[in-house]
Amino acid sequence: MSQPVRSLDVPGESVLAHWENFVRTIDELAPGKKVADIWFRKLRPLSFNGQVLLALAPPTAFVDYLLNTHGDLIRQALQHSVGKGVELSIVKRDNVPEDQLPALEAEQLQLADSNVGQEPVKANLNPRYRFDNYIEGESNRFAVASARSVAETPTTTPFNPYFVYGGSGYGKTHLIQAIGNQVLRTGSLRRVVYVTSEQFVNQFIASIKTKRTTDFTHLYRNVDMLILDDIQFFTGKERTLTEFFHTFNSLYQAGKQIILSSDRPPRDLEDLDERLTSRFASGLVTELTLPDYETRVAILEKRADEHRASLDPRIVDFLATHICTNVRDLEGALLQLIAQSQFMRAPIDLDLAHQVARKFAPTRRAQVSMETIAEACSRYYNIPLLDLKDRGRKKEVAHTRQVAMYICHKLTRHSLRGIALHYGRRDHSTVIHAVKTVEDRITGDQVFRSEIDDLLRSIELHA
Ligand code: ADP
Ligand code: MG
Repeated sequence: MSQPVRSLDVPGESVLAHWENFVRTIDELAPGKKVADIWFRKLRPLSFNGQVLLALAPPTAFVDYLLNTHGDLIRQALQHSVGKGVELSIVKRDNVPEDQLPALEAEQLQLADSNVGQEPVKANLNPRYRFDNYIEGESNRFAVASARSVAETPTTTPFNPYFVYGGSGYGKTHLIQAIGNQVLRTGSLRRVVYVTSEQFVNQFIASIKTKRTTDFTHLYRNVDMLILDDIQFFTGKERTLTEFFHTFNSLYQAGKQIILSSDRPPRDLEDLDERLTSRFASGLVTELTLPDYETRVAILEKRADEHRASLDPRIVDFLATHICTNVRDLEGALLQLIAQSQFMRAPIDLDLAHQVARKFAPTRRAQVSMETIAEACSRYYNIPLLDLKDRGRKKEVAHTRQVAMYICHKLTRHSLRGIALHYGRRDHSTVIHAVKTVEDRITGDQVFRSEIDDLLRSIELHA
């Protein structure tokens, strides 16, 4: 009685995996033609015996027409996705006795569901990364607003994928994890997975070694929200890129939310398929820049608060002014200060702040050349480079030269005398004077301070 149906294998995971692969390959071979949507996504995979992939079609399907018009495409896709010589056979629903259908459907659905994974997934999120402790400012206003919108209405926002980029330590990981944490807290999505690209690569390699790529594929293609951090790490990793390409397409087509971060904009991600980068651009691409002085102060205060440390405003000002590499360094300096003061049972004073801040500056020092600094200052204040190095004493020239010397002192390892020589001076006391003048002005003059901030930022970008 159950002949026609029972002769078909119950679709195991591998059948579904093969089917998914096959349909996806159809999409890739005939991009934009929607062949997969019109035809194959309406079929249900039933079995695979190593030779024949069997699928069930709805009663109204024009199976013969499909096989005739897309025969070549099907063969090619099968060869690419399942194996050489594999054939596709489609049974129409009306060829299966009516009374067998409900059972078959129920089984199918169950399998499809369990495949979509009722088993809980590990979100891998750090609970500290939330919106409520993420400080907003000019540098991140748009990125934060759009991230919040993704968190509030994931999958229905036009911001899919959501792509944020910016330098190391600018707050990317915190922001994208905040989205995941919020979505889980409100319960709007269940299967949220955060993974760094490095983990993704390692897991993928491990799955190849243990011949469990199907599990890997299934995990990542069946989430509601995928948060993938630092995707610049994929550069040069061809197989992972291909795998990611499929994962991305599969999630994207299923309308799942994808969130990505990178240290550079999509167009600068070499090796990434153009079809992918253009998809990125169709979602939202947003940049995080170095927070400005006010935001740096707010971040420091918030973090000090979290550690129940009370900080003299002058210390906060000092750190916010002098550590402008990134937020990670800023926080690192603050935590060290707190730790040292606890260790030495001494209050946090400016001396201690000086010592700690010095440790956080050198990372950049070796990288910036005095010439880069001179050029940046010349551009910024619109003073010809030659005048800057000449003996010219005109006020604007002298002012710009002082700023340049100050920045050289701050960002490079050159001696005072070395800096003096670069600007056509013999005497190192000129540099001491310049540094002091600029530092005094920074403390008293808001506008000037943000000029210097701007300059430092642009030099960092060009370093
Ligand atoms: P990235 O991923 O861009 O390298 P992270 O997100 O890891 O940077 O940020 C580095 C540190 O700075 C983290 O501890 C993070 O909490 C903190 N941070 C960065 N930006 C902000 C911000 N706007 N408000 C509060 N903390 C921030
Ligand atoms: Mg990060």
